[in-house]
Amino acid sequence: MIKYNLICKNCSLNFDSWFSTSNEYEKLKKKNFLECLNCNSNKVEKSLMAPKMINKKMRESSKDETKKYKEFKNKINDYQKFIKNNFEYVGKNFAYEARSIHYNEKKRNKAIYGTPTKTEINELKEEGIKTTLVPWFQDTKN
Ligand SMILES: [Zn+2]
Repeated sequence: MIKYNLICKNCSLNFDSWFSTSNEYEKLKKKNFLECLNCNSNKVEKSLMAPKMINKKMRESSKDETKKYKEFKNKINDYQKFIKNNFEYVGKNFAYEARSIHYNEKKRNKAIYGTPTKTEINELKEEGIKTTLVPWFQDTKN
């Protein structure tokens, strides 16, 4: 595996990408398979940054990512709090409850949230019942 620092000529995004060999990079580049993570442009090229600078940048960006992850997690926590306060938890009965609401068999004051399986979500989708998937961190405090 070989790691290249790539730069997008379109939006100037700088990012790292792994290739199995240096030939693979050339092949993908020729076929226009290299895509910018940000703007999907094919104008992606190997960055000519000196290795030392890349190392420094990598360390900084991983620090950034930890910070971003923490911010993200905080946001999700807030989101979870909001859901817990405003939605009714129905757990594994989610599909059943969602149908009850959809077909107006049951009036509810609160929207619901729960833990449906993937199959259940797909079935609901086929019936025209919209669900929203939210990232969810398990509460480990309890
Ligand atoms: Zn770009």
